[in-house]
Amino acid sequence: MSKDINWGELPFGYFKTDYNVRCYYRDGKWGEIEVSSSEYVPVHMAATALHYGQEAFEGLKAYRGKDGKVRLFRWQENAKRMRNSAHGILMQEVPDEVFYASIMKAIKLNADYIPPYGTGATLYVRPLLFGSGPQVGVKPANEYLFMVFVTPVGPYFKTGFKPVAVELVRDVDRAAPLGTGHIKVGGNYAAGLRATERAHLGGYASVLFLDAIEKKYIDEAGPANFFGIKNNTYITPQSKSILPSITNMSLEQIAKDLGLTVERRKVPFDELGTFEEAGACGTAAIITPIKKIVDRESGKTFSYGEEVGKISTKLYHRLRGIQEGTEEDTHGWTTVIEGI
Ligand SMILES: *Cc1c(COP(=O)(O)O)cnc(C)c1O
Repeated sequence: MSKDINWGELPFGYFKTDYNVRCYYRDGKWGEIEVSSSEYVPVHMAATALHYGQEAFEGLKAYRGKDGKVRLFRWQENAKRMRNSAHGILMQEVPDEVFYASIMKAIKLNADYIPPYGTGATLYVRPLLFGSGPQVGVKPANEYLFMVFVTPVGPYFKTGFKPVAVELVRDVDRAAPLGTGHIKVGGNYAAGLRATERAHLGGYASVLFLDAIEKKYIDEAGPANFFGIKNNTYITPQSKSILPSITNMSLEQIAKDLGLTVERRKVPFDELGTFEEAGACGTAAIITPIKKIVDRESGKTFSYGEEVGKISTKLYHRLRGIQEGTEEDTHGWTTVIEGI
C-alpha cells in the first residue's frame, strides 16, 4: 500500500523513508548486504572520503507504470558507470550483483514510498560509494562503504515541462580535460558549486560550462548533458570532461528511431545561435527544455522561444513512455521489479 503522501506536492529533495542498505568492503572482500533504519553513517574521522574526496554516486529511478508494474531503467548502465567512477579514483569497484541486489532491496523495503502512476512523482534511487577507511598520507582507503537509499521525489519542475533560462559561464571550470569530469564523483559538483549557486540566485535554472582549454566549445550543464536540434538532427557535445549521461545515450537512440540524424561532436559556442531547439538532459527531468542561454560575461543571449520544441516534446514523451510502460520497450531498457 502506498503511503498517504501528497505526491503532487513533493519537492525534488530528500524525504525520509524507512530503510537503507549498506555493504562494506573490508579485508579484501565485499561483505553481506545489511539493512539499516538509521539515516546516519558512523564514519572514521580520517576516512579518505572526508579528506581526499574518494566518493562517487549514482542516480536512477523506479517508475510505477500505468499497468501497475514498477520498472527500473537501464540499471546496468548505472552499475557500469559506478565501476568506472571507482576505477577513476582508485576505489574498490562494486560488483554488478552487489549493486543490483542492493538497489532491489532498498526499493522493495520501501515499496510503500513508490509514488502512484500519474502523480508526476517517482522513487529516486541514490547509490553511493566512498572510502571509509582511515589514511593520513595520500593513499586510497583499505575500506569502502557502498550504500543505497531511496527517496520519493516530485516532478523536477513544479511548473511542468516548460523551458528554462541557463547561464553560460567562463570564470569557473567544472572539470579539466584529463581530470574527473567523465566520472560521477562529488568533487566535480564541489568544483562547480560556486557557479551553480550563483546562477540559481540570478534566476537561472542551471549553468552551462565551456571546455576548460579554449573556452570555445560547449561542455555540459551542471548536472545534465546538453543537446541542440536543427535540420532534423540531434547534436550533443563530444568532450573528455563531460559525464556520459544515460538519458542522453537513450535520447540519441530514440532520435535515431524517430528518423533524426544524430551527431556527437564538438559544439562551438557560436553554433548556439543556429539551433532550433536546445535542452539539458538527465535522469531527474529527462529533458529540461531551454528557452535562452545567456553568456554571463558578454551578455550575449541565444533564444529558443517560450514553448517547448516539437522534437524535444516527442523525445521526452517517448522516453517517459518507455519508463512508465506506455510505449514499447524495443531496446530492452527496462527491468520489471516483481512482487511489488
Ligand atoms: C548524473 C549526471 C548527468 C546525467 O546523467 P544521467 O545518467 O542521464 O542521469 C549529467 N551530468 C552530470 C555531471 C552528472 O553527474
